[in-house]
This record gives sequence, structure tokens and C-alpha cells, in this order.
Amino acid sequence: MSDMKDLAKAMKALEDQLVTCMRCGMCQSVCPLFDQTRKESDVARGKIVLLESLMEEMFDNPHGVNERLNKCLLCGSCAANCPSGVNVTQIFIEARAVITTYLKLPFYKKVVFRKMLARPQVFDKLISMGARIQKVFLSKPDSHTGTAKVKVLAPILKSRRIMPIADLSFQKKADALITGKKTTGDRVALFTGCLIDKIFPNVGVAAVKALLHNNARVHIPKNQGCCAIPALASGDKDTFLELVNHNIALFPPHRFDYLVTACATCTSTIKKLWPAMLEDQDPQLAEQVRHLSDKTLDISQYLVDVAGLAPLPETAALQSTEDDPRIVTYHDPCHLAKSLGVRQQPRTLLNACSGYTFKEMTEPDRCCGMGGSFNLYHYDLSEKIGTVKAGQIADTGCHTLATSCPACMMQISDMLSKADKKIYIKHPIELYTEGLDSDEPA
Ligand code: SF4
Ligand code: SF4
Repeated sequence: MSDMKDLAKAMKALEDQLVTCMRCGMCQSVCPLFDQTRKESDVARGKIVLLESLMEEMFDNPHGVNERLNKCLLCGSCAANCPSGVNVTQIFIEARAVITTYLKLPFYKKVVFRKMLARPQVFDKLISMGARIQKVFLSKPDSHTGTAKVKVLAPILKSRRIMPIADLSFQKKADALITGKKTTGDRVALFTGCLIDKIFPNVGVAAVKALLHNNARVHIPKNQGCCAIPALASGDKDTFLELVNHNIALFPPHRFDYLVTACATCTSTIKKLWPAMLEDQDPQLAEQVRHLSDKTLDISQYLVDVAGLAPLPETAALQSTEDDPRIVTYHDPCHLAKSLGVRQQPRTLLNACSGYTFKEMTEPDRCCGMGGSFNLYHYDLSEKIGTVKAGQIADTGCHTLATSCPACMMQISDMLSKADKKIYIKHPIELYTEGLDSDEPA
């Protein structure tokens, strides 16, 4: 979108989507933000009303419109509960792109997105530097949640307990995990995702072990980029396009049977947002992205629905006993459960782990309050929403909380650590592979 004509076209396209909202208000009862603020302007219906007069509002008070639009977790709870099927998340993301085009991306976001995120090699180097110096600023990590307190005064971090950057990224370990493996099954390309690569490399290692155990031929391209959700959520379509082009060159869909990720947000972004946001772009790229989207699955979907979930060796897992039942509960990430309807497969994985007893929490699909940049700009609200989740988790008496999204893992770790709960936070794939030998089954 380079001029006002394009902007008007984008607004018209947006208006066409808004008419499907019949103002029933059913989105109110499921919106975690409305639950805290009780403000109609925070819920989907309130934002849709705002968007209907976007043209006037945007010229009168563009910063006010921007602020209201950005005060949203993009959790999709409203869309999942909407009887009219309003595609709320996509509408909000497109609206953010419109307003950002009008207001221009702030300078600091330009630097972060266009000079860093869109350049994976630069981004990797900066994060590696961060990993080396972080010990100066962070306390010793908590033994259960893995979070650390920030020792210096850093207003932007507030009272957060943060997950440290891993000493060695997943990408640096990847080659050694797959070299020489003699699997013969599906050709599976693994999309790593930034958080797994840099914060939770053990989740990536577990994903590879699980795929190999299920006889997949695993391909992990080097120099992978971000799925672009941070840029999209900030309305930066230029960075989005740059990253899609970068990644599609690394993952040409005709070269593999499935693209698998262990990150709920990456799966949902590649599967739903990439094709939706490319409809008005270069037809060849749009076609390639549609093809890729069709092949994209969450790792639990691939293992359970496609590979048939190979059983674990008898002796592999720790045994749950009456005295030590090792209760595990599962939090449904919004981007997996509400966006893609993937609810049963992660539970099937957990039930396959004989070392644990599965117990459902109250409202397992209640949002954890992370919401990416929402957590950054509205930490007070994010914390209130997350505290409710932490209480529901702790009420199960669990030993371990499992969830399929690294962003949820970060938020829940922060909340449980602050509440001083001795609960481990893991990805289901880590539990499934806990007893597998790393060389197995080559
Ligand atoms: S977004 Fe859906 S649920 Fe909310 S008011 Fe509109 S039609 Fe009703
Ligand atoms: S996406 Fe989530 S936070 Fe935003 S309006 Fe919908 S339910 Fe509320």
C-alpha cells in the first residue's frame, strides 16, 4: 500500500467484512479482556463499531483509534464463539495494517522489524550476543519454571520473571540430530519458530526425536526466519512480505509432504494468516503460500492423525505411582484450539506418556493473557488475565503444566513463578520424548 488510493481500497475491503457482524454481543462472554475491564470498547463488537467509521475516526483521532485497536490479545476467543462467523482476528490485523499505513510505523519498530527481524542472520547474531551478556542482568533461574528475575531496574520489564535466552540455539544443534538417521517415512520439514530456536531449544530437540521415532524423514532448513506474527500484529505488511518470501524460498512446498511446527502461533500464522494476507498480492506467491498452508500441521496433529503415534518403549518413561502420580494438566493455546480446532491431539500425546496421570483443569482453553505485544504494552492486564490461569493450573495439584505454544509457556512460567508454585512447564512433545534415547530409532 503506497498511496491513499491503496489505503482506500484496503478500507473498502475491510468494510465488506464488517457487515457480517450482527451486534449480538456473544463475544463479550468469552473475551478475556472484557472480563477484566468491562469496557464495550475492548470487546470485538466495540472494535467492529469503531472500524465501521474508520475513515472519519482515523482522520479525527488516528492515535486514539490505533490505541483501541492494539488493546486486544488477538486470541480469537470472540471469533470462535461468533454465531455469524465473523473473522475477527483477520479483520483486526488488516485494520492494524491500514492504520499503520496512515500513521507510519514508529521508528523503533522500523529498526526492530525491518533491520533485525526481517534479517534472520542479523537477528541471530544479536540474540547470541544477548545470551552472552544476560547473566549480568538476570538472577539464577527458578528450578521449576526456569524463569529469572531481572537484577537491574528495567522499567519496560516491570516485575516480569523472564525466560533466559538459551546458550545454544536449536538451529545450532539441528544438524547433529538428523545426520545419519535412516528413517523412511514422510518427508517432514520442520519450521522452528523464534521462541523455540532461541528460548526453548529443548522443544525443538524433542520435536526431532518424536518425528524420528515416528519414522519421518526430517528436513530442517538453515537460516529460517520468523513466521512474521510480531510484524503483522503491528500492521507492518512490508516486513511480513519480506519474511514470507524468505521462508517460502527455504520451504518450497513440492519438496516435502508436511510442514510441521511445535509452536501453536507459528502453525496458525502460516496456515491461516499467510494465505489470508496475501490474497491481493503476487498470484504466484499467493499460490505457493496456499500450497504450503495446506501442508502445515501442528506436531501433535502430524504424530497422532498422520503418523499414528508410535508407542513408546516399555522401559522408556518414568512410572507414575499412587504415591507420586505426577499429574500433568494441559493448557489449550488460543492459536491451536480456537484458531485451528486442535484440542484432542496434544491430550492423546500426554495420555501416551505412562510417566504421568492426565488431569483436566477448569476452562483449559481460557486465554493465558500473553497476546504477544499486548503483554509488552498492557502488562497489568496481561498479568491479571494470567493470574486467573495460574490459579486454575495450581488447583489441579499438578506436577507439570503442558502447553503447545512457547509464548504461553513464557507467560505461564512468569505467572506460576510469581505465585511461587512449584510446577514444571513443558511442551507435550517434551514429555512424549522424555524416555526416548536421542539416537533412537536410527
Ligand atoms: S463479532 Fe460475532 S459475536 Fe461479536 S457481536 Fe459481532 S456477530 Fe456477535
Ligand atoms: S481477540 Fe480476544 S481479546 Fe481481542 S476482542 Fe477477541 S476475545 Fe477479546
